[in-house]
Amino acid sequence: MDIESLLVHGDRAAGDAAAVAPVLYPSSTYRARDAAHFAELANQPRPQRYYARYGNPTLAQVESLLAQLENCEQALLFASGMGAMATCVLSQVGAGDHVVAQHSHYMGTTALLTRILPRMGVTVTRVDQTDTAAFAAALRDDTALVVLETPSNPTLALTDLAAVANLARSRGITTLADNTFATPLATRPHDFGIDLVVHSATKYLGGHSDLVAGVACGDAGRIEQVWQYAIVLGACSNAWEAFLLLRGLRTLALRVERSAATALALAFWLERHPKIARVHYPGLESHPQHSLARAQMRHFGGVLALETKGGYSAAQDLLARLKLAGHAVSLGGVETLAIHAASAWEGSLTPEQIAQAGVGAGLVRVAVGLESERDLIEDFAQALA
Ligand SMILES: *Cc1c(COP(=O)(O)O)cnc(C)c1O
Repeated sequence: MDIESLLVHGDRAAGDAAAVAPVLYPSSTYRARDAAHFAELANQPRPQRYYARYGNPTLAQVESLLAQLENCEQALLFASGMGAMATCVLSQVGAGDHVVAQHSHYMGTTALLTRILPRMGVTVTRVDQTDTAAFAAALRDDTALVVLETPSNPTLALTDLAAVANLARSRGITTLADNTFATPLATRPHDFGIDLVVHSATKYLGGHSDLVAGVACGDAGRIEQVWQYAIVLGACSNAWEAFLLLRGLRTLALRVERSAATALALAFWLERHPKIARVHYPGLESHPQHSLARAQMRHFGGVLALETKGGYSAAQDLLARLKLAGHAVSLGGVETLAIHAASAWEGSLTPEQIAQAGVGAGLVRVAVGLESERDLIEDFAQALA
């Protein structure tokens, strides 16, 4: 099936055969039939009806759809994108291991790589993701994991997934990609050879700014390994979030296609505006990796970043004057949101880390929602006037 049809029908076999909408299982625990059944439930991986931290039928239904969307064997739902990311990373590395990652990552991922892993005896080398040779040079005999994110948050830099996957695979190194910005509609990292695909489902997959969830997708063996860590670290999701996520997923294709089309139009308009110094958007010909974007993405996503000519104060003025675009973190919802990235990161990252991630004082990240193209451009026009 095409991904659009999968979004509507892909979970049918995993749910209640007759119910058109999913059935919610709020129960935290389940009765066993007898001693043998109890022993089986307690000791088999990923039971759906044993204890809710281990698994849940509503979650299993959403996980079956998410796995198919990413063309992977299995998926595992988490309490948040960071729950998925942290659990995956911790399941793959231990003291003495080396990790290769990017300069530009989501803030929480950067904190995991630079503050938490080093305390556990894991060394991390971060490279310029636009330079495949830099990944090749960073790989070592003790490298256990390569962490990727494309397009990256918030500078929209791309990683050549096939090239990095090949480098890692030939040395037996696991690869993990955060696919939150692209969504499986634009890019399926597993098709390029990536082992583990992670999302913040809070963003496009959920799509309505009313849930927090994460997901990890991969081969059955690898996801079972991640699950062994998930039940100990405890970032488990619940039936209500899973239900909301499934409801959001039904319209994923419609939402991301519209948002990407409007983002392209807005990026094109902003790039020509006299008060804008630069627009970062993979769909623009001015994006330094536009040809990679064309090869690796089916559309260019709904997030762009702009740099104002007036730096910090011009960026803050713009945010204060926007009327439709809300001044709030997060992305991937029906409403357009914009933030000053450096302000959002100040509390968790050092000024050097912020600069290394390519985030300048005038950089504003815009997550384009589902408003009309004309209304959004008018909003930016009045705010920049
Ligand atoms: C938001 C985000 C995360 C973290 O997800 P949460 O659901 O907020 O924990 C991770 N990666 C990217 C690219 C994100 O945008």
